[in-house]
Amino acid sequence: MRLSRYFMPILKENPKEAEIVSHRLMLRAGMIRQQSQGIYSWLPLGKRVLDKVNAIIREEQNRAGAIELSMPTLQSAELWQESGRYDAYGKEMLRIKDRQHRPMLYGPTNEEMVTDIFRSSIKSYKDLPLNLYHIQLKFRDEIRPRFGTMRSREFMMKDAYSFDLTREGAEHSYNKMFAAYLRTFDRLGLRAIPMRADTGPIGGKLSHEFIILADTGESEVFCHKDFVDFDIPGEHTDFDSVEGLQAIFDKWTSLYAATSEMHDEAAFNAVPEGDRLSARGIEVGHIFYFGTKYSEPMGAKVQGPDGKEHFVHMGSYGIGPTRLVPAIIEASHDDNGIIWPASVAPFDIVVINMKAGDQACDDTCELIYAALTKAGKDVLYDDTDDRAGTKFATADLIGVPVQIIAGPRAVANGEVEVKDRKTGARETMTIEAAINRFVA
Ligand code: ATP
Ligand code: MG
Repeated sequence: MRLSRYFMPILKENPKEAEIVSHRLMLRAGMIRQQSQGIYSWLPLGKRVLDKVNAIIREEQNRAGAIELSMPTLQSAELWQESGRYDAYGKEMLRIKDRQHRPMLYGPTNEEMVTDIFRSSIKSYKDLPLNLYHIQLKFRDEIRPRFGTMRSREFMMKDAYSFDLTREGAEHSYNKMFAAYLRTFDRLGLRAIPMRADTGPIGGKLSHEFIILADTGESEVFCHKDFVDFDIPGEHTDFDSVEGLQAIFDKWTSLYAATSEMHDEAAFNAVPEGDRLSARGIEVGHIFYFGTKYSEPMGAKVQGPDGKEHFVHMGSYGIGPTRLVPAIIEASHDDNGIIWPASVAPFDIVVINMKAGDQACDDTCELIYAALTKAGKDVLYDDTDDRAGTKFATADLIGVPVQIIAGPRAVANGEVEVKDRKTGARETMTIEAAINRFVA
């Protein structure tokens, strides 16, 4: 991508409305634009990051055996009347009437709809287990939308829904998502800690929130510090192994970890003082086993091996991609801007032409840009005629992991500079060596 032809509206000044660093940096880097309160456009640079986050979420959902579909954002109120949530949900639900005055709503979540899809075609235990997910916009009329896309009214969610014949089966489905979440957040460059969460009015069932430690987090959390170094389940984790996944779950729930709603002061005080971590956190994922809460009122049942009908046991599993992007920035930035983990960086490399219009600089940059693009890298080529200082500031601000800098003096020697955004380390090398370093 040539910057001269791209759309990346950088802000020079710090936007006044942004209270936290991720919101400030997303606005300054031209990643998002607020369209109305808590409703955002994702501009091209932001969209690239969001797409990469979603690609990782999708890979790990698929690896764990979940199947992707797509459900609509607008839902009919009827389904929600069946489950009893149409009246129970409250003001966070955006209610709409169509031209026939039929009550509709903009989905805040999809338990009812997916249960309807399930009951319309699955009749036998032989078709279980099943886990269906989508990555789709949601709307919740939050009382206090804030911090940019961290807490917005319209936001994206990956929501998965599992169906099993028995409670034991549902626990295995839960453990699959538990392990998939550990892998997902790790690949996004984050350390997320699963914390026991409130199970709400139905009680007694399983629920964990995945929390990232960050000073600007809205939740107050308490946990054992060893979680910071726990091993993440590997790429070859066998998601069909009941014992294997149970062992992962047991290990990751063996130490104290709770948000303030579930905090047990006495249990926390039993953790040796030097091992206690009390901090603030951002909830990036939430998994839930709720048994037959929706399958009973909505009549989602299958024939079991005993020939009898059984209401299916369900779970739901959410991740917030549009919250994850700012969460990653909260965890990874410095005074000059964002520092993207390579896995989600909008571009892999930025090529900076320090003197656009200078034949040798132009030729060198074109050569590098073409070679790296051909090798499958996402390359941003800063071919604008801005001052060198402006270009460096922009490159640092948008956080691309590698900068290849071509200035007239180095280029005259057949050389360029390669800068690592994270460490700031710069290395001078031949043009060929610079290309070869990134062409595997
Ligand atoms: P919170 O407690 O932060 O309001 P929640 O518990 O209501 O969130 P869930 O229903 O568990 O949210 O939704 C699953 C995931 O969706 C959350 O873990 C979070 O990552 C994301 N999410 C929820 N609400 C928002 C929001 N208003 N803006 C952005 N992401 C959100
Ligand atoms: Mg939650």
